[in-house]
Parts: sequence; C-alpha cells; structure tokens
Amino acid sequence: MDLKDLYRDVILDHNKRPRNFGVLAAPAIAAQGHNPLCGDQLTIYVDLDHGTIKEVRFEGSGCAISVASASMMTEAVKGLDAAAFAALHAQIHAVLTHHDAEVPATLGKLAALGGVREYPARVKCASLSWRTLEAAIAGAGTAVTTE
Ligand code: ZN
Repeated sequence: MDLKDLYRDVILDHNKRPRNFGVLAAPAIAAQGHNPLCGDQLTIYVDLDHGTIKEVRFEGSGCAISVASASMMTEAVKGLDAAAFAALHAQIHAVLTHHDAEVPATLGKLAALGGVREYPARVKCASLSWRTLEAAIAGAGTAVTTE
C-alpha cells in the first residue's frame, strides 16, 4: 500500500471513529491547542504514572486531519515516558515536514501522517495534537479538575 492510499484510508477511518475521544476524569494534566489557520481546536488530557503516559484523551473540533492525527497519537503514546514521547514526536515532525524523509517502518499506522506533507498547508493541522501533548507534559503539575 503506498503512502497516499494509507493516508486516505487511515485518516478517513480515524476521523469517522476517533479513538480516545472525550474527557479524562480528574486528576489529569491538560493543555489546549488551537490552529487559527484552519480553526482546529482541541484539548488533550493526560494521566501520568511516574512520568509515563498512562491514559490520554482528547476533545475538540477540527478538520479531518487534525482529528485523525490526535486519534492516532492517543493510540500511539500510551505507555511512553516523556523522553520516548519526545523521540516519537521528533520522528513525526520529520515525516511531516521533510518531503524526502524516510518514513520509519517502526511508525506503523502513524506513517499515514506522512501523506500530509503533500499538502503543506495542512501540516499544522496534523502537528497540533502532538504539540499540545508536548505542552501538557511540559506543564505537568498544573492539574485541572474536570468535575
Ligand atoms: Zn485543520
């Protein structure tokens, strides 16, 4: 399956049925992300267990790419610590922004995000959730109460 087919199938699937969509009960850390270019808005909720991402959910509204990217991200990052997340985020960033970058086989379904680089205006849609989770982790300790 080439990148374009993977991109279309995976993005459509995750946009139609977003995984881990919703709010996490307190206590959790959270961060909000906004992509004014497209109007994408989302909030990421994270439960950390000794620095490891134990649970992650998101809510918000946005285009298919922003929702699908957030959905795929929540599936991929559970169990990662901050360093492992940063490494994965760096790989995703490279795949999204470097036209000729190899797409590492270890990315699995996340490789579909590589299709976004054919549409440079949409890169910010795909990276929004990743940057928001990064902010949430960096701000760990600012607990939000969702009750
Ligand atoms: Zn968007």
